[in-house]
Amino acid sequence: MLWFEETRTFATKIALRDEQGSYTYQELFYKAQQVAFFLLNKQQEQHLQNQRIAYLFPSCKEYAAVQWGIWLSGGVAVPLSPLHPKAEMEYFIQDSSASLVVLYNHFASESFSIPSITWQEIEQCSENLQSFPTLPKIDSESPALMIYTSGTTGKPKGVVLTHKNLRFQIETLVKAWEWKNTDKILHVLPLHHIHGIVNALHCALYAGAEVVFLPKFHAQKVWQMWQQEPFSVFMAVPTIYKRLIDEWHKADEKEKIAMQNACKSMRLMISGSAALPVSILEEWQKISGHFLLERYGMSEIGMAISNPLHGKRKAGFVGVPLPNIQVRLVDENNQSVQEGQAGEIQVKGDNVFVGYWNRAEATQESFTDDGFFRTGDIALQDEEGYFKILGRKSTDIIKTAGYKVSAIEIEETLRQHPQINDCTVVGIDDEDKGEKIVAFVIPKSKELDEVALKNWLKEIFAHYKIPSQILFVEDFPRNAMGKVVKSELKKLLK
Ligand code: AMP
Repeated sequence: MLWFEETRTFATKIALRDEQGSYTYQELFYKAQQVAFFLLNKQQEQHLQNQRIAYLFPSCKEYAAVQWGIWLSGGVAVPLSPLHPKAEMEYFIQDSSASLVVLYNHFASESFSIPSITWQEIEQCSENLQSFPTLPKIDSESPALMIYTSGTTGKPKGVVLTHKNLRFQIETLVKAWEWKNTDKILHVLPLHHIHGIVNALHCALYAGAEVVFLPKFHAQKVWQMWQQEPFSVFMAVPTIYKRLIDEWHKADEKEKIAMQNACKSMRLMISGSAALPVSILEEWQKISGHFLLERYGMSEIGMAISNPLHGKRKAGFVGVPLPNIQVRLVDENNQSVQEGQAGEIQVKGDNVFVGYWNRAEATQESFTDDGFFRTGDIALQDEEGYFKILGRKSTDIIKTAGYKVSAIEIEETLRQHPQINDCTVVGIDDEDKGEKIVAFVIPKSKELDEVALKNWLKEIFAHYKIPSQILFVEDFPRNAMGKVVKSELKKLLK
């Protein structure tokens, strides 16, 4: 049985709500069956046999019905995001060799290079259905979901997760974070990414909780919604918490108290998908009373490391490995590193994906001989076994004048300067140093200047960690998840 078939027991409980209405668990499953039946009919098959089915939906209740319907019919779900430009969606369609794309009603006029069907067609066709023919049996080892890497180093690759991977990832998080059917989450994350799909949507549904979609993050709206009804869980990327903090500062004293009170119903607030600046964690704690739970993961492995729900959470650390997931840190010769030393995070377990779609070589290169996935992220472990992420080997570990410097460490320090709103640090090729450190800073005021900032840093850092150049900017280029795209920033210097 697929994991979500078990959710039928939640029957008339509300599963999903959006601006248009809601589905109970029963209705959601019924709709998913309609989708499956329609797809099988359309493709003239009794089992889709891993056909890739793309779907373009906003964050809405129908999204889950289509995704589950694809799975019930034996297909592989390839989510497209309205946040992506058309050319990128077409790339995902072509690369995955999807056979069909399902479009939500307001995307009905979009045309792609493959046949499409609309949600309306599915609903109309299924209106008179009283019962469904038997649906195929789905093997848990078969591919279920294909999500694309952000493609910061080359073309995006399709990450293939099986039903078994998904069940393991979901069950691990439901247990670790104690999801319950009394939980209610305001879902603000994109639904083409592991964070929004598995952590926020699937975990909630597996537990029988209620998911309320806000299709596009809007700080003011989030604060309003939290004040209108009690929510118990929230998950976001650091940028979202920063926007919520900024919005809070704009409010008057009375509103601030109401906003703070709205956070009292929360039992769990999580941050992930990018390093959580300690300054954001601390300010959020002052505002909301919640010490954010930071966790680490990626598309290829789901979540692997998490601060505990109960017990000590450490600012600047992502916690300890989740149960039944092996995590190790190794040096360039694939040897385990000592406590406190930096090494690459490697991960093994049922959470780990089966490979990149149609990229045998890239898949092979990303695994060690003993089956660990090379994440490409560098971290160290402290005396209590907590992991601290130093950044991606390819972009955040800057090799300058013979030293290895973590961009994240410099960013953390710069953010402590009272005149700095945000910053990002990159390494730029340099004849003299190999790479030179360049900091991009969003200042709070125009008074801040490069020389003063460098002098301030000299009091804190060894000389080789001082950026060669500091540039003041208004904002950073970000991807659909709100992550800073460092490669775009580097282009500004070429
Ligand atoms: P994605 O596959 O888009 O989820 O991106 C995964 C990458 O995000 C990881 O390989 C890390 O580089 C980064 N990441 C995820 N969570 C964290 C975290 N808590 N701290 C720092 N980096 C993170």
